[in-house]
Amino acid sequence: MRIGIPAETRLGETRVAATPETVKKLVSAKHEVIVQSGAGVASSITDEAYAAVGARIVSAAEALGAELVLKVRAPNPEELPQMQRGAVLVGMLNPFDAENIATMASAGITAFALEAAPRITRAQSLDVLSSQANIAGYKAVLLAANTYGRFMPMLMTAAGTVKAARVLIMGVGVAGLQAIATAKRLGAVIEASDVRPPVKEQVESLGAKFIDVPYETDEEREIAQGTGGYARPMPAAWMARQAALVHERAKQADIVITTALIPGRKAPVLINEETVKAMKPGSVIVDMAVEQGGNCPLSELGKTVTKYGVHLIGLPNLATLVPADASALYARNVLDFLKLVIDKEAQLVIDRNDEIIAATLMCQGGEIVRKNG
Ligand code: NAD
Repeated sequence: MRIGIPAETRLGETRVAATPETVKKLVSAKHEVIVQSGAGVASSITDEAYAAVGARIVSAAEALGAELVLKVRAPNPEELPQMQRGAVLVGMLNPFDAENIATMASAGITAFALEAAPRITRAQSLDVLSSQANIAGYKAVLLAANTYGRFMPMLMTAAGTVKAARVLIMGVGVAGLQAIATAKRLGAVIEASDVRPPVKEQVESLGAKFIDVPYETDEEREIAQGTGGYARPMPAAWMARQAALVHERAKQADIVITTALIPGRKAPVLINEETVKAMKPGSVIVDMAVEQGGNCPLSELGKTVTKYGVHLIGLPNLATLVPADASALYARNVLDFLKLVIDKEAQLVIDRNDEIIAATLMCQGGEIVRKNG
């Protein structure tokens, strides 16, 4: 099969959907791989590195015109018309963007949105949300440390002792766990909060303290379990108790990292304006949910702003700031996904009875077939 790897065109996108490691495997599985010239540059991958493993370097139009197109983000209105009707597209296509899915369906594309993969053991190796959130959680801590005007670890020096930074992590999924681990390596003292009960043990096993917001009703306890590994919006009464506790903890914190997301919805507000006002001057908030409306209403998308003396970092898509590893892991996720849709004869087989295929398939044969979103 002819597999195309176009360069990504979205502003700030630095990743690429295949690396020399994955191209080599595709070529040895008898596929013809064509890579747009410069597609890997932002991830420090040269055209020569792709060519050395058997890829042919081509124009954007040729890469987009392949039978199977591997991308990081959904094609834009200029790219889509360059794809063939009947072509297969694999990428992070945003299953909640109904308009975009409809556009791809009417262009006759068979599209797989990898973010929609179910959270089951068999899907772990192709879980793009996890691979990218892990990187983003790491980078969030480094950005915070860079903006924070003090040390992270406790230091005892001849000139006196410096206290360790206090870090508060809100939302302990994949990104939050990596943020805890990274802050711990830098020597910070860490507290964390989440709605889901199993998180307490994970937080404590990383040497951080869990902020317990007890459940007062069976409804709260039930909602907190989430659905399919994802959180659900908590009742207002629980959120109010959490806000009161978080307010007190944030006053003591030097760095707050918020990662709380509810799929397909606006992110919950976890740090309100009153809490920001009460924080210490020079403290830092990294709002990793900024693209979904933010966990803090004062953060601004794409900017670092200072309000009430607190620095708010609102950079989106933090995995793009670690492009080489973000691409390496994403490309492996894509390769693992392809094993489900390409058979031993290098032919495409779409088995809609397969749970992963059924969840990720957005449109086929001109029709919208997505199950989630
Ligand atoms: P996410 O990015 O959807 O959300 C981040 C975190 O925010 C979650 O832990 C969520 O519970 C939390 N959150 C939501 N509302 C909150 C609130 N009001 N206050 C505090 N925290 C709030 O989460 P994620 O990184 O995708 O991970 C969710 C879970 O799924 C994790 O337990 C993870 O280990 C699991 N997971 C399983 C698989 C698999 O089995 N294949 C793959 C990936 C993740």
